[in-house]
Amino acid sequence: MQKQDVTIVGGGLVGALLSVMLSRRGYGVTVFEKRPDMRKVKIPAGRSINLALAQRGIRALTTAGLMPQVEPLLIPMAGRMLHDLGKPDEFSPYGQRPEELIYSVSRPLLNQVMLTAAESSPRTRLHFDSECIGVNLAEKTIQLRSLLSGELSTHSYDLLLATDGANSAVRDAIVKSAGGSWTTEWLDHDYKELCLPAGPTGEYQLDQHSLHIWPRRGYMLIALPNLDGSFTVTLFLNKQGDPSFATLTDPTAVHNFFATQFPDATALIPDLEAEFFENPTGVLGTVRATHWASPTGDALLLGDAAHAIVPFHGQGMNAGFEDCGELLRLLDQHQENWSSVLPEFEAIRRPNGNAIADLALENYVTMRDSVLDKKFQLKKLLGFELERRLPEVFVPKYSMVMFRNIPYHVVKRRGEEQERLLDELIGSASSLDELDLATAATTAKRLLQPLVAEPQY
Ligand SMILES: Cc1cc2nc3c(=O)[nH]c(=O)nc-3n(C[C@H](O)[C@H](O)[C@H](O)COP(=O)(O)OP(=O)(O)OC[C@H]3O[C@@H](n4cnc5c(N)ncnc54)[C@H](O)[C@@H]3O)c2cc1C
Repeated sequence: MQKQDVTIVGGGLVGALLSVMLSRRGYGVTVFEKRPDMRKVKIPAGRSINLALAQRGIRALTTAGLMPQVEPLLIPMAGRMLHDLGKPDEFSPYGQRPEELIYSVSRPLLNQVMLTAAESSPRTRLHFDSECIGVNLAEKTIQLRSLLSGELSTHSYDLLLATDGANSAVRDAIVKSAGGSWTTEWLDHDYKELCLPAGPTGEYQLDQHSLHIWPRRGYMLIALPNLDGSFTVTLFLNKQGDPSFATLTDPTAVHNFFATQFPDATALIPDLEAEFFENPTGVLGTVRATHWASPTGDALLLGDAAHAIVPFHGQGMNAGFEDCGELLRLLDQHQENWSSVLPEFEAIRRPNGNAIADLALENYVTMRDSVLDKKFQLKKLLGFELERRLPEVFVPKYSMVMFRNIPYHVVKRRGEEQERLLDELIGSASSLDELDLATAATTAKRLLQPLVAEPQY
């Protein structure tokens, strides 16, 4: 039996996944997507070409039955490859179990697979080149503009799910209808994507199973592998100051900056200067809203529309996918009663959205700076040791975010407690050999509660 109709604004990563999940559940789904159908039109270069997919995202894709199509797109990454200036490259594993991997995946390919799966349902209608330009929550309508003809139209909805990203056209109306407000906190660093191509025989020119980082304290370069042997390289750098995007105004300045700071990468990026000026410079921000659901119980924000975050923990998409899984869990729990589901979804997910936003901001400092410090490396070794001895009690913070489904707000609190404990246990030691590991484990067991059960959906 067909259930209510759900209208989804935004057919990006989260909207596409949601449309697959809801149509398989028996809902009629109508998606309005501003862009053209990406399966028919080439995607412009320089806009977050690949992403890190981790446990939370994989779990949601599994729930949607999409992993058979997604798996061939994935390149496992087992750890960070640090490219420190003047030092040999150093590999640092992310986890300590064979399955503790993250995966590089192409954004357009992942989105395309999901759109094709969505379209395979007779209950789903995808409308491309259709921009939502307004919403009337009282009348339950959205206003649309065709980007092909300019024609304006009105669409009535039963249920409205807004997955139209960080610059959501629907957010303001939903948040204000609940008497709330929202903010975007802009980062003072921007980003630029470049291509490090495959070698002459199509081979990877850097280790294929690492996420490469060139940490330079105040800024950094990273690289993630693509299926064709290339890497997408991203520079994260201050807007102003020296060095900054403001100082990289001509090809010579760009060349000199890269050649001095990232000599190994520079040698592998033949079109560096041209790409630098052709590709857009992206801005980064954190969106926080006081409300995600309309008080009428029929309109909801999910994904970046609700909680856009900076990309330094590789969790924006993963968190958005987790939103989708959580929505399904609540639909089960409340027998599809959306007016009960929506407030509960907001109550559960908003503290998690805020927590992963904070964790992502913190991880920028870790990636560009702390990874170079001896103390950070020692804390990581001790964390792994405690996890081996006390797997029910101690899980390193990075592993809690990337390899587990522990709610982000628990990870944040727990991460802070663990950080204090590691500092205390290490004291002035400079290597693991100087520590009494048995006593450290006893102390950890005494001070930390066992981890909470992970929510199931
Ligand atoms: C540089 C960078 C690197 C990142 N790396 C990672 C990573 O490694 N791992 C990770 O998990 N996350 C990462 N992210 C975050 C990730 O990209 C986002 O969290 C994710 O794309 C959110 O998905 P979404 O569907 O909510 O929004 P989006 O992907 O932004 O999709 C929104 C969709 O809505 C459409 N739309 C917008 N406005 C309208 C409108 N008015 N009407 C109709 N349609 C509209 C858009 O065209 C788009 O298709 C990264 C982000 C950036 C910027």
